[in-house]
Parts: sequence; C-alpha cells; structure tokens
Amino acid sequence: MVLDAHQHTNWHGYDAQRLVGYMDENGIDKAWLLTWEERDGGLTRWYSYLDPYAVEAAWRAYPDRFVPFYAPDPRRPEAVSIVREYARKGFRGYGELKVRIRYDNPDAVYVFRACAEVGWPVLFHLDVPMGPGSPWYGGELEAIENALRKCPETVFIAHGPGWWRYIAEEQDNELGDAYPKGPVVHRGPIWRMLEQYPNLYGDLSAGSGLGALKRQEDGGREFLITFQDKLLYGTDYHDTQHLEHLRSLDLPEEVGEKIFWRNAYKLVPLQEVEG
Ligand SMILES: [Zn+2]
Repeated sequence: MVLDAHQHTNWHGYDAQRLVGYMDENGIDKAWLLTWEERDGGLTRWYSYLDPYAVEAAWRAYPDRFVPFYAPDPRRPEAVSIVREYARKGFRGYGELKVRIRYDNPDAVYVFRACAEVGWPVLFHLDVPMGPGSPWYGGELEAIENALRKCPETVFIAHGPGWWRYIAEEQDNELGDAYPKGPVVHRGPIWRMLEQYPNLYGDLSAGSGLGALKRQEDGGREFLITFQDKLLYGTDYHDTQHLEHLRSLDLPEEVGEKIFWRNAYKLVPLQEVEG
C-alpha cells in the first residue's frame, strides 16, 4: 500500500486520468490532491492557480484514489467559512498552503484553528526569505514555531525547501541556494522541532524532501527511523525518485509502512484500510 501525500491535478500536464495512469504504473494506490490558491499570486511569474473545482472533479471521478484537500487563502475574509463548507462537502485537509505571508499571521491562525475543529491537517509550503525579490512563503522558521504554539490542536505537515534546508545547521547560505546540498554535519533545528511538537509532521515530497535525506551519509535512514511516526511519503511530481530512494534504504518493514501510508491514514482516516 502506498499513499502519495503531496500531489496535484492539472499540474505539469497531468490531468486526473493521466495522474491515475502514473499511479497505476508505479504501484501508488492513493494520493492527497492539494490546491494552490494565493489571492495575489498572479503577480509572480511562477504562480499557477490549482483550484478546488479540479480537485473535486478528480475526486468524484476517482473516489477510491484521491483524497481532496483545499487551502483557501487565509486572507480571504470568508476563509474560515470556506473551510467549514468544504469539510461538510467531504474534503479532508487544508493544503497546500503556499502564500506570501507569515504563517503566524492572525488570519492564518484563525484558519488553522478552524482546521482543528473540522479535523483537517494543515500542509504548508515553506520558503524562507533569502533577500529582496526571493520567492518566500510563510516567513522564517520562527513563524512556524509561533503557529505550532498558537494552534496546539492543529496538525501541521511541513514541506518545501525552507523547511528541509534546516535538516542541517550547514546551509551554504552565502550562495543564497534554496536547495543546500552539503553534508549534514550538525543536525539542524527541525530535528528538535519534530521531537518537541506532537502536532508537527514532515512531508518528504519534492527535491527538498529527497535532498534532505540524501545530504545525510546514511541516506536519511536514521532520521526516518527516529521520526517514523511523523514522516509522510509524497512526490509533488510524477517521478519515482522518492520510491526508489526509500526502498533502497532497507528500512524495517513497519517503518516503511508508516511512511508509505499508515501515518497519512492516521491523520486522515480512510474507510478501507488495505494491507
Ligand atoms: Zn505542491
């Protein structure tokens, strides 16, 4: 059983049908489908609106394969009521949150608390500020700690280069590289945070998640075993790099199961639990 906890539809040329084809080919049973909604996102050239209507249509077409998520921009005055409305509709989580505000912003905090009320985890993208014009999302790590403390009932799932760079103290910061590649010599602050906050999880998707594992001498094996109850397999794309890397590490069977699907099922319980 494999569940991809970070996937999109109408993304990089994959509509729902083509996405199911990719999943079938690679033995991926289910995927969380995430939106990207940023009120003023159109002002950045890399923005692409991933709307809840496409997510809903994909889920209705393939109800056994997709789990629908929607993250309305927290700055919308009606954001909290949208969360409640979509929860009633059958959506299961808030994500992907990728908005150019600090995530301890009061509007975001109200939305996170509403998510706890309806039983939704919050999956966020973090990119820390790296100078003028840099595409930051969420603010510094400090904003995440504030949100964790202000919303202890809310489950947060961390994702993105701004999060995973902190696998190490060493970050090649002088190069301004959002994807540092040097080896992990000293463990960075996310080790402490994953240990300290029971409501914090990590999504291993994309180059950032995989890179954080590969920066470790053992390919991240010890990290994965240490945080086996808090890490989720995901891709964000349509390749098999994460599958191959995780399978190459010869993880204990129960650790693999947790990362590949059990942790996701714990956060978003689905009716049929398959072996
Ligand atoms: Zn994504």
